[in-house]
Amino acid sequence: MLLDPYKRKINYLRISVTDRCNLRCRYCMPEEGIPLISHEEILTYEEMLRVVHIFASEGISKVRLTGGEPLVRKGIVDFIFRLSQIEQIKDLSLTTNGILLKEFAQDLKQAGLKRINISLDSLKKERFLQITRRDDFERVWSGIEEALRVGLSPTKLNMVAIQGLNDDEIESFARLTLHLPLTVRYIEYMPSGNGEDWKQDDILTIPQIQSRLEKVGELIPIPSDQWDGPAKRFRIDGAIGEIGLIGAVSSHFCGECNRLRLTPDGKIRTCLFSDEEIDVREILRKGGSDEDLKERLLVALKTKPEKHHINTLQFRKCQRNMSAIGG
Ligand code: SAM
Repeated sequence: MLLDPYKRKINYLRISVTDRCNLRCRYCMPEEGIPLISHEEILTYEEMLRVVHIFASEGISKVRLTGGEPLVRKGIVDFIFRLSQIEQIKDLSLTTNGILLKEFAQDLKQAGLKRINISLDSLKKERFLQITRRDDFERVWSGIEEALRVGLSPTKLNMVAIQGLNDDEIESFARLTLHLPLTVRYIEYMPSGNGEDWKQDDILTIPQIQSRLEKVGELIPIPSDQWDGPAKRFRIDGAIGEIGLIGAVSSHFCGECNRLRLTPDGKIRTCLFSDEEIDVREILRKGGSDEDLKERLLVALKTKPEKHHINTLQFRKCQRNMSAIGG
């Protein structure tokens, strides 16, 4: 078992497989994109698999693939298949913007992916274009339908709720759960990324979101299970789907954080909001041993901060963009 100095059990690795993305969400990056990591610097799948094998032997049992947009990286289906064969990995998931999902859903399912998270901030075509700078709402929606059709379960929709941008859609997202087996999760807008400037006033806090949801119907709490992470779960009375609330900013869940992140260029990050990075690429490329990689993992555990400092004077926005960390 991997324990950090605060006695948190660390069993979850998020891998950003690429920093490339096929959307340009305003809150994440500018229109022209951000400087990209060169292809040579990005870990190969073989390198990522070696890291996962070793970390899994030490106690990592949950892996999520993210990015950038993971489905734009060639060979992702085979990578997922190989991850699914690692005995100690009990939970394997993927976060996508859904643009390529219609084409990929069946193959992902066959490769061993069980569940999927799809990021979607608007159900309105024009607003989707305004937020993402791409006119692709229909593609994402057909990707969601395909995920449900092939049985990726649960299929979760992640909505970042931003004051004055899409907060009028909180209820419409919740209503989807009345007739579709979707989990709709609301995520507080966080101070990260290189997009338009984040302001405290832009955040809709989880209590604010919750009180809007109560207008749709009674929220019935659902007990968490071991793979749930920090989301508080609810079902609207009579709904077939679920609601999840994730208060990364307002309700510090750092005390329960079980995560490490691996960036596309082979750095372990111990907190989304800390720029501390522990390099594993050098070990991978200079003939380092499995013991050397385990030692890096232990360094990461030791340096994992107790909590993030959003809302304090100490807080500094992190240097890397979300797309190169893995949101
Ligand atoms: N391309 C994939 C996707 O769209 O899900 C994975 C990468 S994306 C960076 C992961 C998630 O981070 C998305 O749900 C996105 O909305 C979220 N995200 C990016 N910037 C954010 C911010 N400042 N606050 C909250 N969530 C953010």
